[in-house]
Amino acid sequence: MQKKSACPARQRASFPEHEKKQPWLSLLLEAYLVTDQGISESIQREEKQGRQLACAQGCAACCKSHETIPVYPLELMAMSWYCVEIIDGELRDKLKHQLRNLENLNSCPFLIDNSCSLHVIRPMACRNFNVFNTQCSEGEDAFYTRRADVLTPIKKYNDEAFNIMLPFYGIKNKTERRKMIKNGGMHQLAKVMRDLNWQTLADKMDAFG
Ligand code: SF4
Ligand code: SF4
Repeated sequence: MQKKSACPARQRASFPEHEKKQPWLSLLLEAYLVTDQGISESIQREEKQGRQLACAQGCAACCKSHETIPVYPLELMAMSWYCVEIIDGELRDKLKHQLRNLENLNSCPFLIDNSCSLHVIRPMACRNFNVFNTQCSEGEDAFYTRRADVLTPIKKYNDEAFNIMLPFYGIKNKTERRKMIKNGGMHQLAKVMRDLNWQTLADKMDAFG
């Protein structure tokens, strides 16, 4: 469980038994691999220019200050699956408590003890947000305070990640997928993570056991 690592994973996460039952999960994990490859390449590019990634394990001011993190329906399904079927023990109890007490939280509901409780399945928006030089201070949103220190992801990787995800939304035709990515139609599917009713996820976790 962690927020970020200096070098994003280049290996695809794998849940063979779950992927057999839920083919949509494989799509998302493929898309995340491509996203992470793009981030890794863009970080390396910046490091060659002498810049140093500030993001590190346990650094999580961004999970508190960002209130409008977008999530796509496929990502939401994966987050729900991961919380219901994978997270266990004390972390599960803490997470359910947070999901039921959003009004008392000053962070993303999935941030527990300054780490992301669903790190392996965290949304593209979280993967893409990386900051150079200095770690963000509490309450700081570097996107507004020092945009020049925020990583600009390489577009072709994010486009390819969307391209992989689109069949889940019934858009299988290659030309249609390209068109939707080009005109930004994909973004209309996004919801704001903190606006969602996470209480129902806590209930699902209870029902699962
Ligand atoms: S974006 Fe800022 S707060 Fe988040 S991990 Fe990176 S340096 Fe830390
Ligand atoms: S899902 Fe929440 S806790 Fe996890 S990285 Fe994103 S903002 Fe942080």
